[in-house]
Amino acid sequence: MTQTSSAQKVTAYIGLGSNLEHPLTHIEQAAEALNRIPHTRLLALSPLYQSKAIGPGEQSDYINAAAALETSLSPLKLLHQLQIIENQQGRKRGPVRWVARTLDLDLLLFDNIILETEELTIPHPRMTERNFVLFPLRDLAKLLSPSLALPDGRSIADLAQSCNDADISPTNGK
Ligand code: AMP
Repeated sequence: MTQTSSAQKVTAYIGLGSNLEHPLTHIEQAAEALNRIPHTRLLALSPLYQSKAIGPGEQSDYINAAAALETSLSPLKLLHQLQIIENQQGRKRGPVRWVARTLDLDLLLFDNIILETEELTIPHPRMTERNFVLFPLRDLAKLLSPSLALPDGRSIADLAQSCNDADISPTNGK
């Protein structure tokens, strides 16, 4: 059983990124879709950042954000819901060049849990190196939970401060 009526509600943090086909629209649509996930509600969406794409080839800049959710789903059920949203909004062009994508949703943090399975790793394995994850997450934490930290105790504010600020800037997404 992954969800019951008495299931505990926890806070989960999601990283959002888009660099194709009107990225701002995709981020806004994704936020609405996150709020429609069963047994889940959107607590807040962070300010937006614009970042340079990682990887080979010419790619448009990304628009990045972070979202806080309250959910009583299991981590895996929540990941599957994120993948449904990605599929609904993403990769509509069929075989996409490179790794450019209309929408990427990563499950960054889920309460204070540590999970390592073939399908799902929490905290997200690369979140501590990525300014485009840490900066919006830090902004969200300032609003909701200033002491937000990884399960190992490292604070998001400290990680963001020591992360490089190259190739990223705040944006209104337009
Ligand atoms: P990507 O295409 O880079 O978004 O990677 C998606 C793959 O990463 C999927 O196969 C997921 O099962 C796996 N994955 C493992 N941990 C996570 C996580 N915390 N959030 C999102 N995807 C994850």
